[in-house]
Amino acid sequence: MNPGTAAVFATLESIGRELRRNEQYLCELDAAVGDGDHGVTIVRCWDALERRMNEVEGKSLADALAELGKAVVATGGGAIGPLLGTAFIEAGTAAGDASAPAHRIVLALRAAEEGVHSRGRAQVGDRTLLDALHPAAEAAGAAARAGHTVSEVVSAAAQAAEDGATGTAKMIARAGRAARMGEQALGHMDPGAVSVAIMLRAAADHLRNRAVAGDHES
Ligand code: ADP
Ligand code: MG
Repeated sequence: MNPGTAAVFATLESIGRELRRNEQYLCELDAAVGDGDHGVTIVRCWDALERRMNEVEGKSLADALAELGKAVVATGGGAIGPLLGTAFIEAGTAAGDASAPAHRIVLALRAAEEGVHSRGRAQVGDRTLLDALHPAAEAAGAAARAGHTVSEVVSAAAQAAEDGATGTAKMIARAGRAARMGEQALGHMDPGAVSVAIMLRAAADHLRNRAVAGDHES
C-alpha cells in the first residue's frame, strides 16, 4: 500500500477504536434528544468503512477514501450514514489536490463540511454535526496558515470541534430529529457533533503519538 494511504488508514483505525469505546455514551446522548441509536449507527458506519479498507489498498488515497465513503453511504444507515459517507467522498477528492500535508487536512475538512451541508441542507447554527465540523475546518485553516505541523493542525481542529460540540447544548435544533424537541434539547449536546469531536481528537492523539515516535508526517 502507498505510505500516505497506509498512514491515513491507521489513523482511521484509531478513530474506530475510540468510537467503539464511546458507543454507549453516544447512544445516551442521542437518547436525550433523538432515538438513542447514534452510537450503534456510527459504529456500523465504521465497520463498513474498515471492511472496505481491505479491498482498496491498491488505489490512490482520493479513490480509496471515495470507496470508503460509498461503503458508509450504502450500509451506515440513519441520518449519519449518508452524511458521513458523503464527507469521506468529498474529503478524499479535495485532499488529493493539495501538495503540503497540513493544507491537505484543511481542504479535506472544508470539503467534508461542504459535502455534509449540500447533502443534509442544514446550516451552521442548526445544532448538527456541522457545529463541530465548521469550527474545526476554520481552526485547521488558521493553524495551517500559521505554519503548524499536520499533528498540530489536527489538534487545533479537535479542540475547536470539542468547543463546538459543547456549544450545541445551548442551541435550538433546526435540523435532524432534535428539531422536534424545541427547547427540551437545551442542555444536551448534539450527538453527531460529539462524534465529530471524538473522531478528530482520536486522529490528533494518533498523529501526536506517531510524531513522538519519530515517524515522518505525510
Ligand atoms: P438518526 O437521526 O437518523 O437517528 P443518528 O442518530 O445516527 O441518525 O445521527 C444523528 C445526528 O446526525 C445528529 O446528532 C446530527 O448531528 C446529524 N444530523 C442529522 N440531520 C442532519 C442534517 N440535516 N445535517 C447535518 N447533520 C445532521
Ligand atoms: Mg439517532
